[in-house]
Amino acid sequence: MADAGGASLSYDPRTWVPAGSGAVPIDAGGAPAAAAPQWRKLSLAIGVALLVAFAGFIAWRQRTAPAGATGSGSAASAAEPGASKTRQTRRTLVLAGASELRAALLANGVGAAEAAAAAQATQGALKADSEVRAVLTLEPAAGGCRLARLEASNPDSSGAVATPRGDGGFDVSKVAPQLHARIVVKRGRMDADSFYSSAVAAGISDSLIPEFAKALAFDFDFQREVKLGDAFEAAFEQEINASGQPVGAPRLLYAELNTANKSSAVYRFTPPGGKPDWFDASGRSIVRALMRTPVDGARVSSKFGFRLHPVLGFMKLHKGTDFAAPIGTPIFAAGNAVVEWAAMKGPNGNLTILRHENGWQTYYLHQNRFMPGIAPGAHVAQGQQIGEIGTTGRSTGPHLHYEVHIAGEAVDPLGIQTEQGSTLTGPALVAFAKERDRIDVSRAGQAG
Ligand SMILES: [Zn+2]
Repeated sequence: MADAGGASLSYDPRTWVPAGSGAVPIDAGGAPAAAAPQWRKLSLAIGVALLVAFAGFIAWRQRTAPAGATGSGSAASAAEPGASKTRQTRRTLVLAGASELRAALLANGVGAAEAAAAAQATQGALKADSEVRAVLTLEPAAGGCRLARLEASNPDSSGAVATPRGDGGFDVSKVAPQLHARIVVKRGRMDADSFYSSAVAAGISDSLIPEFAKALAFDFDFQREVKLGDAFEAAFEQEINASGQPVGAPRLLYAELNTANKSSAVYRFTPPGGKPDWFDASGRSIVRALMRTPVDGARVSSKFGFRLHPVLGFMKLHKGTDFAAPIGTPIFAAGNAVVEWAAMKGPNGNLTILRHENGWQTYYLHQNRFMPGIAPGAHVAQGQQIGEIGTTGRSTGPHLHYEVHIAGEAVDPLGIQTEQGSTLTGPALVAFAKERDRIDVSRAGQAG
């Protein structure tokens, strides 16, 4: 073994070491295993250089080649290989919808009957209300050109290929969507404003944020338990088409929140024959009798120290939780219930009282308005919007004053021990574990 610290002079390129990288130990006998990566790096560099030179040559050839009888407006054109024989040209058109196809074919010199037949033939495979990409293969013909082939595709890469049959009609082969789903992971920390603004800052699509907050609303009181600097994570699935473009809305798969006192991580899963729901890592449903946050938690202010009842001493008598959020923020039924009261009531402002299946009651004060149909006797489902945040009655600013009553007595909503949700078993648990692992692997792969 040569001394690793001493750079010995050698004419064998396998022993050359880049400046500043430190010496690589070399076996005295030559042909050292440690030197092999250097060799590979060198061949790779030569390979890349050759590739770049070749690409440059191709680009030069294309620039200097004759332009061909093509090209106008937004259409991109290129000569087909073998164009000298058939003189075919290809044009790519981007259309606002399938209904523009016939006119686009006409504009590119295709005869009226042929254009109508080709558009008609592909109509069934194209979406009416989304962008269509059409690739036309044209051959010169008397008075214009002949359509030798039409490839038309939707944003999800589904579509159709039409080829002339010889009798004026077209044969069509349909292409199924070529989508694959990608899991995207975003992480962030609570800012001084709201969960909503923190999530937007972390790059979470705003269409996902209310659901994100709702998935965590069983475990956290967003007004009192979530603070500046608390860490959260979201994973969502996005469908991608063959050209790498996102298609359709993203779907939330995972929500996690870590505060000073507790952590919660929930996975979306649809049990066989059931509805999509949220489960913890062990497959236990997170749904409880009551949500801790009965408002759109994403918009609850987390401004530390901000309180709506500035009178000293009042907090001691305060029987509920105040959720500060802008006027109009949705208020949800904390659990399945029957409406007992929904009307103005003095200093309470617009008040709703719900009676839940276990006999508990929840009170919602100072609302801006009630949702239609929220009246005594009406049944409401957990998470259903029953009203809006307001500042009616004796209130110093927009907020929901929320109370939980057990046996007629107001209790601290944070102190309630609610029963645990049911746990998946058997094949449903096996399927859940598979989905959880799929999400976790993506999360691990996007660590940081
Ligand atoms: Zn209050």
